[in-house]
Amino acid sequence: MHHRYVIIGGGLAAAHAIQGIRSRDTEGSILLLSRENHRPYNRPPLTKDVWFGTYDMERLPVFPDAFYDENMVTLQLRREVLEVDTEHKVLWDDRGESAGYDQLLFATGCRPKRLFAQGSELSSVRYFRDLEDYLDLEARLDRISHITIVGGGFTAVEMSAALRAREKEVTLVLPEEYPLRRMLPRDLGEGVLEYLRDLGVEVVSEETIVHIDEAGGFVHARTQNGNDLTTQLVLVDHGGEPQSDLAEAAGLDIDDGIVVNEYGEGSRAGTWAAGDVAEFPYLALGQLMRVEGSDHAEHHGRLVGANMAGAREVYTHLPLKWFRLGDLQFEGVGELNARLDTETVWLEPGRESVTFYLRDDIVRGVVLCNVHARLDWARALVQDARVMNAAERSAMVTQKV
Ligand SMILES: Cc1cc2nc3c(=O)[nH]c(=O)nc-3n(C[C@H](O)[C@H](O)[C@H](O)COP(=O)(O)OP(=O)(O)OC[C@H]3O[C@@H](n4cnc5c(N)ncnc54)[C@H](O)[C@@H]3O)c2cc1C
Repeated sequence: MHHRYVIIGGGLAAAHAIQGIRSRDTEGSILLLSRENHRPYNRPPLTKDVWFGTYDMERLPVFPDAFYDENMVTLQLRREVLEVDTEHKVLWDDRGESAGYDQLLFATGCRPKRLFAQGSELSSVRYFRDLEDYLDLEARLDRISHITIVGGGFTAVEMSAALRAREKEVTLVLPEEYPLRRMLPRDLGEGVLEYLRDLGVEVVSEETIVHIDEAGGFVHARTQNGNDLTTQLVLVDHGGEPQSDLAEAAGLDIDDGIVVNEYGEGSRAGTWAAGDVAEFPYLALGQLMRVEGSDHAEHHGRLVGANMAGAREVYTHLPLKWFRLGDLQFEGVGELNARLDTETVWLEPGRESVTFYLRDDIVRGVVLCNVHARLDWARALVQDARVMNAAERSAMVTQKV
């Protein structure tokens, strides 16, 4: 079967690419192949709202079921694409079926980084990325009183808080001194650490698990520094890596993900990539970057979809990265790298702040804590790339927020 557009992946970028395509081409046939059992859904609630008993699961799908029929999309779920031949423009899935295409989008996202520990293949070691992972954990939860989470990123932090809210004992084992060490400056990161400890999370910093076994209905884990932990489930959530192997085998240029230009085009004719898996020119920062975040997946997916249908629009959006911990909402744009010079201006100690990420007094990134109203302002600062001293920055925050 031949399709004008084929999309590999069933996540946020894929779903929004359909919208993008249809904004330019109302007729060309679209085939979407996803490895998952579900139509595209939003992942962010999986570490947040769904655990608190107040979330309406009907809000999880990105679009209602009717969207796919209305947009004449052939949806093939539980299909993994195994091979792509970019010369003859054809691909094969795990059922041995082939599909030809004119334009092909890789929207394959990330997969969880594996834990390298002896025993990590045991069934009590789980990963958390998909709706199925949530359904699996939720189904086991009644039989579990203690969970060990491995990882220091924002989803590990959110899961720790969510599982405490469900009255589970939680141990968080993280490799750095404090959570989000690569993104947040010390004062913010230590604030997150304190927040988790106040919730009753046992935080074990600068550690990782190297050995796991199961005995007597419990899981026994040994850390790198020789400490022993007894738990019932090890949940590994220490970041993702781009699923670019398929594209790499098909001959596309790969760096940290699939390399695309400002339109989202890959290095082979008729190939495109969007969302978590794409390394794209972040024009405001003048560098190639890969962004894992829902806002980026939506905007990039939509724009690249439109470009597949001939739009030729440049990606200039400054993607937002966000996460939520109880009543603390963090939102960031730009280069959120804690190795840059950072400066935090507190509006209300421990609750509201603006953090600048600086290179030679130029704002490269901004993280807002509980000051959502400043998001456009933060974007404009990164976009402008003006030289500004500390007094000017501080004055701007206190005057305008
Ligand atoms: C639990 C969780 C919580 C999150 N919370 C936040 C948040 O609070 N804020 C935020 O900004 N971002 C958050 N994110 C990140 C955000 O959800 C991702 O950035 C976004 O989902 C990326 O969309 P995507 O379409 O690029 O990739 P994905 O959503 O990962 O979708 C990729 C899809 O491709 C499929 N696929 C891969 N390879 C193949 C193949 N060979 N054949 C067929 N199908 C394939 C996968 O199965 C999957 O369906 C969270 C992510 C997770 C996992």
